[in-house]
Amino acid sequence: MRDDQERAILAVHVRGLDGMCAGCRAWWSRLAPYPCWQVEWATSRQARASVARFLGSVQ
Ligand SMILES: [Zn+2]
Repeated sequence: MRDDQERAILAVHVRGLDGMCAGCRAWWSRLAPYPCWQVEWATSRQARASVARFLGSVQ
């Protein structure tokens, strides 16, 4: 279910009109510059997963 979690984070944490993260503001009333650490986490997880998939398909 990790993929779903990352997708959910990336769907909510989007750049707001003022360049701040809309998801952080909506969820925690917290102002964070986009990309926030949640987006960084989710994208790094996805990158690692796609690399693992690629390596798995090569072997
Ligand atoms: Zn955020």
